[in-house]
Amino acid sequence: MASLTSVGILGSTGSIGTQALDVVASCPDRFSVVALGAHRSVELLVDQARRFRPAVVAVGDATVAREVASLLPAGTELLVGDEGMAVAAGMAEVCVNGVVGFAGLAVTVAALSAGRRLALANKESIIAGAPVVAEARATPGAEIVPVDSEHGAVHQCLRAGERNEVARLLLTASGGPFRGRSAPELAAVRVDEALAHPTWSMGPKITVDSSTLMNKGLEVIEAHELFGIPYDRIDVVVHPQSIVHSMVEFTDGSTVAQLSRPDMRLPIGYALGYPARLPVPYGTLDWATVPHLDFEPPDRTTFRCLDLAYAAGRAGDLAPAWLNAANEVAVAAFLDKRLNWGSIAEVVEGTMERYPAGAAGTRRTMADVLDADARARAAASALVAAREGGG
Ligand code: MG
Repeated sequence: MASLTSVGILGSTGSIGTQALDVVASCPDRFSVVALGAHRSVELLVDQARRFRPAVVAVGDATVAREVASLLPAGTELLVGDEGMAVAAGMAEVCVNGVVGFAGLAVTVAALSAGRRLALANKESIIAGAPVVAEARATPGAEIVPVDSEHGAVHQCLRAGERNEVARLLLTASGGPFRGRSAPELAAVRVDEALAHPTWSMGPKITVDSSTLMNKGLEVIEAHELFGIPYDRIDVVVHPQSIVHSMVEFTDGSTVAQLSRPDMRLPIGYALGYPARLPVPYGTLDWATVPHLDFEPPDRTTFRCLDLAYAAGRAGDLAPAWLNAANEVAVAAFLDKRLNWGSIAEVVEGTMERYPAGAAGTRRTMADVLDADARARAAASALVAAREGGG
């Protein structure tokens, strides 16, 4: 009998984390949970700890540590703060990084530096932290298997050929809730409209990113970083049904696609089990009921965030860190009802105009990435405040 693969899940109380625990629970003879971590969702984290009995639980926010400690089952050790999250990230053979936003960077670097497999759902870390993630990735044993439906699909499609046989990657985009609408129609849409994603159930930040196509733009950068394919060979195609999760075109003209119903547990399970496939199916298609599969080019005029992301990706260095930080600030302001949907792209664009391009080839440290993130956040916050002041 094969031994159990040990799994750590950071961001365990979020959308990815809870679905990862679902997958683990469905395959008790394959996986065991040794570490769980969350920022501050005490009740759910403690429930999970009681159910899965991990060796450690990490809580990012030190102010709730005492409460969590009093509720944990005997035999589960508590780790606290960013450091605690990082220790938990290095404990298991596979670390699922389901932390939301830039805060996930420390988890990504810790898991890779420990030589672990990183099941990466936190795309911000590989986008903003690309220079430091690349170094950590060189650690013997370290590997990234993406937990993003598109990149999981590309990862699977790439197994159909050699790397020098890849002509281009085609990332599919659902188009989000606002596909087919124009910029003037969208200027003042409300938060609940942006959160009504047609095909995927995800957290609020990524759902808003999906409505602006920034999610797809970030995924273009993510694909470049993960797979080393140049930007002019990464394309985006809108596919409203979210059944084709991405495609790889090979040099002989063959395009290989990965299809399933949209269910994040499939890419999560793929990343946990790789190179083996799980015995439990998620997202199986019933071909008697599959609708039409439609494809169209993205509307780059209305959804300007897509090209802002391409530009930042091509600029490289710390530009993606700036883009990501500006977007996080703008989306948070939108969710807070302090910024119009239409102004998200404006804030990102205005912030990128302030990006000071560095000398090419400069070696970057974590401090540089954190500094870039802080400076971009300050610039973006000022732009949000200026818009608030103007009503
Ligand atoms: Mg995705």
